[in-house]
Amino acid sequence: MARITGSSHLECQVCHEVHRDVARLLGPRAPDDWLAVGPGERLEAELTPDICILPCNGTTRHFLRGHLQLPVDEYEFGTFVWSVWVELEEFSMVAVARTWSDPNRAAMSPLVGRLATELPYEQPTKGLPVSVHTRDLGQVPLLMLYPGTQHSIVAEQREGIAVHRAAELAGLVWR
Ligand SMILES: [Zn+2]
Repeated sequence: MARITGSSHLECQVCHEVHRDVARLLGPRAPDDWLAVGPGERLEAELTPDICILPCNGTTRHFLRGHLQLPVDEYEFGTFVWSVWVELEEFSMVAVARTWSDPNRAAMSPLVGRLATELPYEQPTKGLPVSVHTRDLGQVPLLMLYPGTQHSIVAEQREGIAVHRAAELAGLVWR
């Protein structure tokens, strides 16, 4: 699990505590389905911090890590980032691989994928459609949920969250 923290020095308007060292970036090092495949398939699989290629029941699945940002409405905090995995079609992964070292790769059209990480929300997050926006070299792709999807995480990405909610989300993951 990756974890980067930030602080708000102001008293929370919800619980009146000062939230210190709240996680600003959280996420697993592999797609959830990495754990689901057998040891034989795992041997033939590939996992880097950014990409996962997973043989599964005779086919090959392709995953890319991206950042799903929730804006935090208290200025000093910045954004809360879920570092999550997205499953892509093979042709999309080929396009990613082809442009990985291209200095102009941020100009590439967005790709379509599906979230492959279950996050601590009431409704499942795995399978939610996202657009994948390649950014400049060294930056993890940005993931944008589709505004029409009925899910609280979509509303949180659109409307932003309070530091209190960021602390709550981090707490749900770090039980
Ligand atoms: Zn609070």
